[in-house]
Amino acid sequence: MTTRIVLASRPKGLPELDNFRSEKMTLSELKEGEVLLQGLYYSVDPYMRGRMNDAKSYVPPFQLNQSLEGSGIAKVITNKSKLFKKGDIVIGLLPWQEECVVADTAIKNLNPLISPITYYLSILGMTGLTAYIGLMHIGKPKAGETVVVSGAAGAVGLVVGQIAKQQGCTVIGITGSDEKVKQLKVQFGFDEAINYKTVTDLKKAVAIACPAGVDIYFDNVGGEISDAVMSNLNFNARVPLCGQISLYNGSDVPMGPRLQPMLLTRSVLMQGFIVSNFQNLFPDALQQLTQWVKEGKLKFTDTVVHDFDQLPSALLGLFNGSNTGKMVVRA
Ligand code: NDP
Repeated sequence: MTTRIVLASRPKGLPELDNFRSEKMTLSELKEGEVLLQGLYYSVDPYMRGRMNDAKSYVPPFQLNQSLEGSGIAKVITNKSKLFKKGDIVIGLLPWQEECVVADTAIKNLNPLISPITYYLSILGMTGLTAYIGLMHIGKPKAGETVVVSGAAGAVGLVVGQIAKQQGCTVIGITGSDEKVKQLKVQFGFDEAINYKTVTDLKKAVAIACPAGVDIYFDNVGGEISDAVMSNLNFNARVPLCGQISLYNGSDVPMGPRLQPMLLTRSVLMQGFIVSNFQNLFPDALQQLTQWVKEGKLKFTDTVVHDFDQLPSALLGLFNGSNTGKMVVRA
């Protein structure tokens, strides 16, 4: 027997704890080519909100009364696989279960050379890859340019800002608390940061923070924050469209300014991207990220929430800003 967390109902608007249910389950017998895993760390990510809807997207929806799933790190307990041995630490897309049986093709051995091990779910995993590929391959920063990143103190945002600084850019972060503003400037080297929750006129605040205008806007949040930043874009600006978290819980089609005339007249390039479509870039990107982390040129932080049963509240915490850096749950 083990414990799992299932999707009990589909949320309308902001998810609530009632949309999840924890329950006991019996694990299936191990078959040839399968391993029994004990979960160690579970990643919670904003895209999971989309999977809670019954809607077509680039990943299939979670099924009602079935375990949710996400990236995780686990330990091999027993196995009927030639690829793994007892005690191996592995990474993969894992169900929200304390223990689980998975095919050996669904996981990879993790030889953690860098600590903390959670970095493999964040800066050396999807988070770092998203930041690197979105900024370097779509944003294409040049020294001297001004980069604005929203969701700046979140997992992706922290990495974007620091890589942009390394490229010789001026970096402005937008985030949701004074504490995060301070962290961005003092700990992570951002030139300026703006608290979107307390500023009265965000458009003006961005204009003041970016006297030479905005050359790259790395958009993690969308909505009114993006409207305010984008009205400050320069000629030939680039907008890597990474996430729209401010809209994930809405059901109406959002109304906003029509930005297309401005994109047209200022020759702005705006490109949506899904990191998993850039697998060919992963090896080089990971090598570069690993080197920067080893050299101390990229700093990072995780928000580690304790215990398996806190997975739902950790996921919900992403929507009220309770994380700095990557939100992970330790079993
Ligand atoms: P984060 O660590 O940034 O977590 C969420 C953060 O978003 C919160 O801490 C909060 O910070 C901020 N936030 C939440 N609600 C709002 C809101 N209504 N308005 C403004 N900010 C809000 O998550 P990730 O770094 O993992 O992801 C960042 C974005 O990138 C997400 O939109 C995600 O969906 C997207 N993404 C896209 C990928 C791709 O392939 N395109 C891959 C990975 C992520 P604060 O205190 O500042 O409000």
